Amino acid sequence: MAQMITVVTGGSRGIGAAICRRLAAEGHDLVIGYRHDAAAAELVAADVRQAGRACACVQVDTADATSVDRLFDAAAAELGPVTGLVNNAGVSGPNGTLAEADPAGLHDALAVNVLGYLLCARRAIRDMSGAGRGGAIVNISSAAATLGSPGQYVHYAAAKAAVDAMTVGLAKEVAADGIRVNCVAPGVVWTEFHEDPQRPAWMAPNIPLGRAGRPEEIAGAVAWLLSPDASFAAGAVLRVSGGM
Ligand code: NDP
Repeated sequence: MAQMITVVTGGSRGIGAAICRRLAAEGHDLVIGYRHDAAAAELVAADVRQAGRACACVQVDTADATSVDRLFDAAAAELGPVTGLVNNAGVSGPNGTLAEADPAGLHDALAVNVLGYLLCARRAIRDMSGAGRGGAIVNISSAAATLGSPGQYVHYAAAKAAVDAMTVGLAKEVAADGIRVNCVAPGVVWTEFHEDPQRPAWMAPNIPLGRAGRPEEIAGAVAWLLSPDASFAAGAVLRVSGGM
């Protein structure tokens, strides 16, 4: 089997970092896309290399098409033809009611959470189908897509519903090119994503399993969807949310 070479956006911390470590253990070479924190990305890269895999860190703004092209150009130049993409980089944007939300904040959040996913998937598909090798894409959505997140961030829930929809549509659009597109929808997970860092603790009573998740508990689902074990999975939205 050809070497798996996977781009993980937002791989510098949180769920993305756990995904990188898990994929390295499963034999993927990795391209870690990060926005601001080069040092955090290098820490993850050190673990990937420790696991015996090749790794490159590339600064990217996933909401910018030119920047996304630079990410994939660097990936191909440094590691070789990309076989996988984990569309993970996301932001919550303004917290609170929609009526109180700052329009510029809404614009920026939608740009990263929706346009960013589309731009990265677009470029990955062009590379994967151009090389004739196919590949696999996993989009990180959220349980918010079906819960709606009233009073918290309805715009974010709407963006994640768009991620679910693009997963279903793209899966059908590119299946014949040998590209599988799937989605993982996490529930509340302990990361630095939350405006209130203690949100995972106070959400616990609302979660059937009684606690928030750990990033590693999301990474396994992503690794499975990228693996040959998931060779018949396409267009799936796999909820990993403690029952929420
Ligand atoms: P974190 O806030 O911990 O990490 C976000 C990552 O995304 C960082 O690596 C950050 O890079 C990167 N990033 C943010 N904006 C951009 C951008 N414009 N371009 C490139 N990279 C960017 O988030 P999580 O790990 O918690 O979230 C990962 C994904 O999981 C997101 O899509 C999120 O919506 C989703 N999710 C999270 C849940 C949770 O409870 N944590 C629940 C459900 C879904 P840098 O650090 O360099 O700025």
